[in-house]
Amino acid sequence: MIDLHLHSTNSDGSETPEELVRLGRRAGLAAMALTDHDNMGGVEEFLSACRTHGMTGIAGVEISAAVEEGHGTLHILGYGVNPQHPLVIESLGRVLDGRAWRNEQILEKLNGLGLELEWAEVQACAGEDVIGRVHFAQALIDRDYVSSVAEAFDRYLSKGRPAYVDRYRLYPEEGIRMIREAGGAAVIAHPFTWELDEEKLESGLRELKAAGLIGIEAVYSEYTPEQTVALLRLSKRLDLLTTGGSDYHGQAKPDIALGRGFGSLCVPDEYLTPLLETLGENNPWVIAPGKR
Ligand SMILES: [Zn+2]
Ligand SMILES: [Zn+2]
Repeated sequence: MIDLHLHSTNSDGSETPEELVRLGRRAGLAAMALTDHDNMGGVEEFLSACRTHGMTGIAGVEISAAVEEGHGTLHILGYGVNPQHPLVIESLGRVLDGRAWRNEQILEKLNGLGLELEWAEVQACAGEDVIGRVHFAQALIDRDYVSSVAEAFDRYLSKGRPAYVDRYRLYPEEGIRMIREAGGAAVIAHPFTWELDEEKLESGLRELKAAGLIGIEAVYSEYTPEQTVALLRLSKRLDLLTTGGSDYHGQAKPDIALGRGFGSLCVPDEYLTPLLETLGENNPWVIAPGKR
């Protein structure tokens, strides 16, 4: 079993990259990829932990791409990406600046709704982590405005709710180009959250493939066996690789277990070989036991 979709404290997960590798070892995983949101700050720690624990590890990232109004979300996973590549530093830096602006806007909107909240409280909830909406949710819980993270999102923070602020995103082609130029492989994450009908999804994927996409995340915690079969067929038809992962976030999504998703997830080992072949034996952002 493998798990190629994991979040750490470098985005909105609750475990450090090192802790993730230890958990993965205990869960009996054969390979893991760290895929924090728009952030590669954890990959060096992750890869060195993989080396220590004899785990196959892939440095990754999950890009939140810009989509047309009225559609869902489009996330693109990058595997074997060089975090020090100038285009990666520049592109992810732009996203990070956009995030700071967005956080200020969210706080302003919450205050405008009459919710008293100080920046320091949000900061305290985030600790060392990159501040995201989940930390606003925690700060609202601490103030007794809401009783759970879910309620904070439902009432205020989700898309369409009064304190929602859209953030700066890379265009899908830009994200794919960044991943490729930095030596990596681009894979669409959880394709159904794009919220396209069957036909549009296929044509959308064809366009992404033309831009350099090489795979589809077909096995995913939230997908039914029927949805997985549909994605496997689609990947075959479009001649794309298949990957899979749990989208583990630790305490931020406590029902999803590393490697096992809601309990029945199983991403087969054989998805790994074609991905590693695509990345090439000399990609330094992939650690495999026995590899120098
Ligand atoms: Zn995602
Ligand atoms: Zn994710």
